[in-house]
Amino acid sequence: MSSKSLGLVYDPIYLEHDTGGHVEHAQRLTETLAVLEAGGAAQRLVKLSPRAATAEEVAQVHTHAYIEQLASFCRAGGGRLDPDTVVSPRSFQVALAAAGGLLNALDAVQEGTVTRAFALVRPPGHHALPHKAMGFCLFNNVAVAARYAEQKYGIDRILIVDWDYHHGNGTEAVFYAEPGVLYFSTHSATGYPGTGRVDRAGEGPGEGFNINVPLPDLAGDEDFGYVFDEILVPVAAEYSPGLVLVSAGQDGYRRDPIAGMDLTPRGYGLMAAAVRRIADRFAGGRLVGCLEGGYHLHGLGQCVGAILEQWVGKEERPGDPRRPAKPEVEAAVAAVKRVHRGYWRCLAGD
Ligand SMILES: [Zn+2]
Repeated sequence: MSSKSLGLVYDPIYLEHDTGGHVEHAQRLTETLAVLEAGGAAQRLVKLSPRAATAEEVAQVHTHAYIEQLASFCRAGGGRLDPDTVVSPRSFQVALAAAGGLLNALDAVQEGTVTRAFALVRPPGHHALPHKAMGFCLFNNVAVAARYAEQKYGIDRILIVDWDYHHGNGTEAVFYAEPGVLYFSTHSATGYPGTGRVDRAGEGPGEGFNINVPLPDLAGDEDFGYVFDEILVPVAAEYSPGLVLVSAGQDGYRRDPIAGMDLTPRGYGLMAAAVRRIADRFAGGRLVGCLEGGYHLHGLGQCVGAILEQWVGKEERPGDPRRPAKPEVEAAVAAVKRVHRGYWRCLAGD
């Protein structure tokens, strides 16, 4: 097994979170796998199995009361937890396996079994709050992984990049007052769940370590590339993370049925290349992505394929020469710089 390889966490248990006719359903994963197989990427990946996260590991992020309540609700047959979030009898176990999938991915990266890893898991996580499920999410997988990295491996600067169409309000809430996790999110300024304002920059010792980049809908590949170049790349260089985690939601894909951005697989490739360069330069390559949203079945598969393509082999710069960003996106970036110039020297210049 090459040490310069990319791990993929997957297990059929992730199909057992039965959401009926809900847009977040098992076929998201089977279709993604089919696209990866057809594109030849699957054969180049090191297959990693998940384990169940323990209740204690999940309780580093979630309250015991919520964990017990979710377990008993599922045991009793499941149903609707809120207007958006459905669970089946197996969902509690599947959610533990989703969080545990990330933990195994992290262990594999830390132990050097693989250089990078992607966890193709569901249910997704970034809306889940410490005390409740929200927005299709049961446990906040990426937050549980960040806590685990802090506690097991003593990593004291973790960068979480969240490029899902929706703001990861749960992840923001968990780390809002902490400098040890830098949360960077691009998201729709107007979409669900209505959080993620640019002036929400963290509090107390965490001030400056929560970077929200709310964007107008219809932002596309060049726009996200511009945001990454102008904000994420310089800030990450100044922060110098020891680990990079990615909340990889591909619902910014232009044909996604519930979102409104204009990204293509090429745009996801650009973002994936950028986070890889950050991880390679500062974190010894340590990079773990996890699936969040993405509801256009074939498009999700193509976007995940574009991400893995940037993570599997030698570093390359994807795509065509850049076109300029939209004026509204330049304005959004200027607003982020105004809020954060006092916290980051690299943003103070202009
Ligand atoms: Zn989303």
